[in-house]
Amino acid sequence: VEVEVEAEKVVAELRERCATPASLLRDVAAAMAGEMGAGLEKEGGSRVKMLLSYVDKLPTGREDGLFYGLDLGGTNFRVLKVHLGGSKKHVVNSESREVSIPPHLMSGTSSELFGFIAGELGKFVAEEEEGTDMPNGKKKELGFTFSFPVRQRSVASGTLVKWTKAFSIDDAVGEDVVAELQTAMVKQGLDMHVAALINDAVGTLAGARYYDEDVVAGVIFGTGTNAAYVEKANAIPKWEGELPNSGDMVINMEWGNFYSSHLPIYEKLTSGMYLGEIVRRVLLKLSLQSGIFGSIDNSKLKTRFHLRFKADPKISVNVANRTPHISAMHHDETPDLKIVAEKLHQILEITHTSLEIRKMVVEICDIVARRAARLAAAGVAGILMKLGRNGGINNQRSVIAIDGGLFEHYTKFRECLESTLGELLGEEASKSVAVKHANDGSGIGAALIAASQSR
Ligand code: ADP
Ligand code: MG
Repeated sequence: VEVEVEAEKVVAELRERCATPASLLRDVAAAMAGEMGAGLEKEGGSRVKMLLSYVDKLPTGREDGLFYGLDLGGTNFRVLKVHLGGSKKHVVNSESREVSIPPHLMSGTSSELFGFIAGELGKFVAEEEEGTDMPNGKKKELGFTFSFPVRQRSVASGTLVKWTKAFSIDDAVGEDVVAELQTAMVKQGLDMHVAALINDAVGTLAGARYYDEDVVAGVIFGTGTNAAYVEKANAIPKWEGELPNSGDMVINMEWGNFYSSHLPIYEKLTSGMYLGEIVRRVLLKLSLQSGIFGSIDNSKLKTRFHLRFKADPKISVNVANRTPHISAMHHDETPDLKIVAEKLHQILEITHTSLEIRKMVVEICDIVARRAARLAAAGVAGILMKLGRNGGINNQRSVIAIDGGLFEHYTKFRECLESTLGELLGEEASKSVAVKHANDGSGIGAALIAASQSR
């Protein structure tokens, strides 16, 4: 009994410290909107970088022709092509292929990596060639989704600031990744033109906008988190260039670094890379402080995810990412929480758990995931606030396109995000705001932006 009281104390403290009442979320949303303004004001004006994407034309749905996309983000990359049939037919046909990147190429040289990518792209294009003819003399247009930090000065160029995730290829840092890709394609004899360089958030926005002109933002909740939205070009004081004809500019927020007096770094509380890790730490505390798991070997509970991550990038994909396990436990609907028991046993070597303990573990998952989803909603509310679409004077319809494995597969996260957004906007404003799952925008979005840039 003593043990259970101690354990309850740990959970109660967690519950209290992770609480996200609507008043706090409103402060977070307002702080996000404020940081957005500061980041647009001047370079370095905010921890939210508010980078110009140089995408000033989003797809309208009227594009036609054949366009290609390349999506490099995590451990896989995808090549795809879309055949667009104008405003009546939209996407007539699309095909894609996923290729995993051999781990040794993730820390080799730039020309090896881009050579491999161009080679795979070349194979795909050659195989898909039959039955699709390019108008004479017209180059194939390609959009490139590259979800690493780049500094852009035009829509079709960008220098790599640094690698993230499992990549570290020193000689590519500071280089223009489009030029590297273009060089590799030339070596392969591939006659393609890179029309746009974007990231997954911009791609998600573009992919959804193609079908629905009320889409105002693309948001990712996957391994990491990011958002992109459409800003009025004349509302960007830091922009020194000529204003585009469209009057619009897509801003790549890079909001993972958002930080306010109300909470620590945003990405660490809201993305798949970290949620499992947070739960692990809570379970370790629970074990050490209460002894509720009995006299177990805590070594698995003590393993920080990124220790393994460095040692072996191949293992990292499963071991580092505990979030799918958290989701599986959280959604366990068996009467005796069998899945929770299995996960605790398999992943953490915690055996012989009582039903009470399992319930406690589910509650811990719930506290951590709920906080994540509610903060995610606050971020989205911040964008709507910045755009004046959070229920103020003009109730135009606004659609937020969201993608990423966490949003797609973690049902309770997604439901909580959506209901919290409703709570923050209020009943009236909620009527004009919709959240849409934009499946796989990051790949097709690049091809669609290539299409809209080349019109
Ligand atoms: P990326 O963000 O690397 O481009 P995804 O958008 O596919 O890739 O997101 C993958 C991430 O989504 C994983 O790292 C994991 O954190 C999370 N995820 C995937 N499946 C699940 C799941 N079933 N439950 C919870 N989270 C999941
Ligand atoms: Mg992705």
